[in-house]
Amino acid sequence: MRQLIAGIDIGGTKVAGGLVDGTGRLLKDVFVPTRAQEGVRTSYSQILKVIDRLIRAAGGKQNLAGIGLCAPGPVNPKTGTVINPPNLPGWKDFPLERKIAERFGLPAKVENDANAAGLAEALFGAACGYRHVFYVTVSTGIGTGIIINRRVYHGKNGVAAEGGHVSIDYRSPYRCGCGTLGCIEALAAGPAMARRARVLLEQEHTKPSLLRTMSGGHPERITPEMIAEAAGQGDEVARIILDETGFFLGVWLAGMITLLDPEAIVIGGGVSRIGKPLFDKIRETIPAYTINRDFAVKTPILPAKLQENVGVFGAAALLLPAGEEVEGSWTGGPLPKPKPCDAHLTGRRGLRALNSGTSA
Ligand SMILES: [Zn+2]
Repeated sequence: MRQLIAGIDIGGTKVAGGLVDGTGRLLKDVFVPTRAQEGVRTSYSQILKVIDRLIRAAGGKQNLAGIGLCAPGPVNPKTGTVINPPNLPGWKDFPLERKIAERFGLPAKVENDANAAGLAEALFGAACGYRHVFYVTVSTGIGTGIIINRRVYHGKNGVAAEGGHVSIDYRSPYRCGCGTLGCIEALAAGPAMARRARVLLEQEHTKPSLLRTMSGGHPERITPEMIAEAAGQGDEVARIILDETGFFLGVWLAGMITLLDPEAIVIGGGVSRIGKPLFDKIRETIPAYTINRDFAVKTPILPAKLQENVGVFGAAALLLPAGEEVEGSWTGGPLPKPKPCDAHLTGRRGLRALNSGTSA
């Protein structure tokens, strides 16, 4: 029975793996530290360890349809080569997809983490039921994924959907890590929020602010969580920063709506957990900055649903028939057609039930 897919989420600090069935249920999860600082040999062996454990949990690799992996970008989606992610030292042009496929004798697929997360949210998460989805994750950076007809859009060179590096202000004083002025990442990601708060506190040095007390007088310790909390308590400086963040994201997303006319936008990542005040400001801003206002205001702006499991679901989704480039090359035998809205955790109980042939 080849009903299970191993989904592996490779991060800078941990490798998470899970067994996902064809209906989008996560049946088993495993975590190990990546040990990225110890170099590629160690971090790659940590990944193998996770896969070995999942194969044992599945009752042997004959029960696996394949192994999907998501890694920090850049990744070549055609070859499944991990190019040179800054948080995985020593990984340079690492042919991850080929190595995993050869070692385990199973189909393997590698994708960058934002694209995989977008696919997961479109198939199993907040945007299940929609075909054309723009996915955004706002945390220490801003990553995006473009899902068209329930497939990842890669562009000609495989480097499409770098939405975080679209500039909304070419005169901005803030230069992005990519070198451009005013990328949305340099304006609205977590570190950018904290930086704007520090600048404003300096400008308004006579104005009292909860952020000064919360950070213990060390503005460099200000976090997006502090800003959200202070804003919730009515702090004026924090409110300005939160409002600006929603405004910047709104202007940028309005452009994305103008360009893509998506059926839904999903926003995940740590900063998105600020929730309603941020989403309200984004929704309020969009109509003034897009051409088809009547359509734009009806575009659902949804909070991500899959949270910390999004990478595992996204990696597994790469191997589903509804996922990326599987049609025509599918070799894993019959998989049940995915029921996209069913994603939920069933834990070990679910795996036992599946293996014994009863429903979880
Ligand atoms: Zn940039």
